[in-house]
Amino acid sequence: MTTIQNHLSAVRARIRAACQAAGRSEDAVTLLAVSKTFGAEAVQEAFAAGQTAFGENYIQEAVQKISALSHLPLTWHCIGPIQSNKTRLVAQHFDWVHTVDRLKIAQRLSEQRPPGLPALQVCIQVNMDGGASKSGVPPEDALTLAQQVATLPNLRLRGIMSIPEPAPDFEASCAIFNRVKALFDALNARGLVMDTLSMGMSADLEAAIDAGSTMVRVGTAIFGGRNYFH
Ligand SMILES: *Cc1c(COP(=O)(O)O)cnc(C)c1O
Repeated sequence: MTTIQNHLSAVRARIRAACQAAGRSEDAVTLLAVSKTFGAEAVQEAFAAGQTAFGENYIQEAVQKISALSHLPLTWHCIGPIQSNKTRLVAQHFDWVHTVDRLKIAQRLSEQRPPGLPALQVCIQVNMDGGASKSGVPPEDALTLAQQVATLPNLRLRGIMSIPEPAPDFEASCAIFNRVKALFDALNARGLVMDTLSMGMSADLEAAIDAGSTMVRVGTAIFGGRNYFH
């Protein structure tokens, strides 16, 4: 096995252990491998070990990779901030978007989704802890935005996504993830039908799974440290 494949098994073992500890079924959590800054070969290595869902932040970089690997049965998730002038590329190339935090972006994605492709699967990004540097809708605005997104013809609302500030320990991490889960449940109780709670990364996936995450987004623990050229 290659290094990436070894790392992937280790991450899967962490997810299994976290599901067991939380009394959840092992298939309740999907692993999204975050391949940003890594090349198509790294994605292929992960695919050879059974990984099919990949997350990317930088649209141009992602589109090259997606095109180079179009012969493989992969699903691509956009997890980076989206500017208006990038919505067309996102609508054309991705299967999922986790970072919708404005109606205008959602409308453009729906309008620009090419006919013939299935609906774009969408999560609303929520800024749960008010982290100033981060995108995301404030929790009190999530219901309205989610209801609006649910009406757009070429999008399918799947859930919410959050990136809390790094917490000092497991308990503190759980506390903030529990608030995201409570919001998710409250939105579903208001009539939305969402099945995806996208939260947890390399450093805090155990706490996220404890709180009810259904999709963890893991980069470093699979592919190693990143060099940024962006
Ligand atoms: C980069 C990134 C990740 C992966 O983070 P790691 O700490 O490398 O696991 C997850 N989610 C988002 C939104 C990211 O930008």
